[in-house]
Amino acid sequence: MSVRPVYLDNNATTKVDARVVSAMLPYFNEQFGNPSSMHAFGAKVGGAVRDARGKLQQLLGAEHDHEVVFTSGGTESDNAALLSALEVSPGRDEIITSAVEHPAILSMCEHLEKSRGTRVHVIGVDSQGRLDIEAYRKALSEKTALVSIMWANNETGTINPVAELAELAKEAGALFHTDAVQAVGKVPIDLKTTEIDMLSLSGHKLHGPKGIGALYVRRGVRFKSLLKGGHQERGRRAGTENTPGIVGLGVAAAIAHADLATDMAYISGLRDRLEKGLLQRIGKSFVTGDSANRLPNTSNIAFEFIEGEAILLLLNRAGIAASSGSACTSGSLEPSHVLRAMGVPYTAAHGAIRFSFSRDNSAEDVDQVLDVMPGIIERLRDLSPFWTEGGAKPATFQPTYA
Ligand code: PLP
Repeated sequence: MSVRPVYLDNNATTKVDARVVSAMLPYFNEQFGNPSSMHAFGAKVGGAVRDARGKLQQLLGAEHDHEVVFTSGGTESDNAALLSALEVSPGRDEIITSAVEHPAILSMCEHLEKSRGTRVHVIGVDSQGRLDIEAYRKALSEKTALVSIMWANNETGTINPVAELAELAKEAGALFHTDAVQAVGKVPIDLKTTEIDMLSLSGHKLHGPKGIGALYVRRGVRFKSLLKGGHQERGRRAGTENTPGIVGLGVAAAIAHADLATDMAYISGLRDRLEKGLLQRIGKSFVTGDSANRLPNTSNIAFEFIEGEAILLLLNRAGIAASSGSACTSGSLEPSHVLRAMGVPYTAAHGAIRFSFSRDNSAEDVDQVLDVMPGIIERLRDLSPFWTEGGAKPATFQPTYA
């Protein structure tokens, strides 16, 4: 029997909007010129790139379109921001970041620590994923080159007060970068009213294509290109532009900008309906993250005493795609670094599932999850050595976690 597919993993990636696809198509074969070329083939494409840059400017509330630098996506934008900040900040060699950042930030920080001896302050979060502001204030100093704190967390959706954090960074004379890959297109952004110096975004998280993104670099902020080569993007990103991708990202940005309020009201309605329904039907489950200050499309729910991977497999059989923060490393399932940083107990963090919505979802999708999820959880708990009726662990079974 075939099952109706339900896609609830939109923080991993989104379906490209049909309007985006049709806008991109001519730029593969009809308008194939190189935007840097001096002839008519190039000039036409150059105009389309300018147009897309303007659309990104609108979505971000940036002051100038040239503050938008096209990149290959969120990872490149994050890496470029960190490396550039260290290069343009003489006498400053420290970075401040948070324990719940995406690996695009954390792995680069680790690399910089090892390869350059950069001191990295990793600021913790509370049980809802909210940054420890006092620890942040204390870490800021005349040695801070850059602060990089994400706008919204990809696993829990928790939103950081980035405007306030950027002001504190500015007082300390440090640059402020935010990984807004999950926030752009989901929350209103008006960069010109903030002290944010750099911001990363990625096309495929907002119904645009994969392999295209942007780094916002505030006018006046010195910037060193990560890639060395040609002078594209005003010398800030070498390499012939991905013009179909840029055009597609522009259209995705324009749609997100125009429809943000209505889309997010609709999406948060679906998210809340799912959350309420699951918590009502399934005991020993709770929402992780800051419910009061969260992305409208994200719900991360921990189902205690079972493995998230097993839940995902059974959901997949029922046609439902979601995700867990666990990563299978060296044969053992490690709960996500985000939930660990939040102090979520292992027995709950292991069973955490992220449902992430988009405008493509419907109430029918929610009902399908509500229909199958209680049975899946019951079945797995029956098999779980950690579970007894009422949720207490049997005294005879003590899990050992490395
Ligand atoms: N930052 C965050 C918060 C993300 O969620 C992601 C993607 O999952 C990235 C960065 C990386 O973006 P990309 O896939 O465009 O490299």
